[in-house]
Amino acid sequence: MIIWTVFLLIQQSILVKDFTVQVPGIIQKSTRFLEWNVKGAHQVYLTFDDGPTPEVTENVLDILDRYQVKGTFFCIGRNVERHPELFQELLNRGMAVGNHTYSHLNGWKTPNKIYFDDVEIADDLIHSNLFRPAYGRIRPAQMYKLAQKYRIFMWDVLTKDYNQHISGEDCFQNIRKYARPGSIIVFHDSLKAQKNLEYALPKSIDFLLDKGFSLTDTL
Ligand SMILES: [Zn+2]
Repeated sequence: MIIWTVFLLIQQSILVKDFTVQVPGIIQKSTRFLEWNVKGAHQVYLTFDDGPTPEVTENVLDILDRYQVKGTFFCIGRNVERHPELFQELLNRGMAVGNHTYSHLNGWKTPNKIYFDDVEIADDLIHSNLFRPAYGRIRPAQMYKLAQKYRIFMWDVLTKDYNQHISGEDCFQNIRKYARPGSIIVFHDSLKAQKNLEYALPKSIDFLLDKGFSLTDTL
């Protein structure tokens, strides 16, 4: 119980204040149900949340193809429903997909039953055993239950590409400073993040490949 209180309080301070790019080790170690990075991997994992979004997701796919690297896309079910051809394109191009809820629900503010139903609706569209909670916010009870069916992937490097007050170069610097073997990096294939994403993604891939990281595996 105490560990959960600590977990939620610290997670709250990180996510709400949005000032920390790298998740502190204490959070990463506080639960075995959430995966913050990939242990023992030499690879770095590119992940993209909140799509599929016309134009933005297509541009990401073109960038990834140009470098012949792969990504994992945690899709919002509602967006998959709106853009099924784009979702299919992700699969056709060899990307992995994961469930990011149907309506981008905040788990902390959502009763469990409603939350599980929403995830289930998304599952009917996405068909994946990978899950990432929207806003990174999930209650312990939700986590326990979903962990029976899904691998729940968080991240250890947040680009903050969605933040209108920082530049694409800032996003790249977050990766340059914090990426290490097994890191899971979060971008967003959303309209809000588009400008920063399209600047930082190719530059980050160049940097990571130069550092000798492989980017060809998905989660
Ligand atoms: Zn999201």
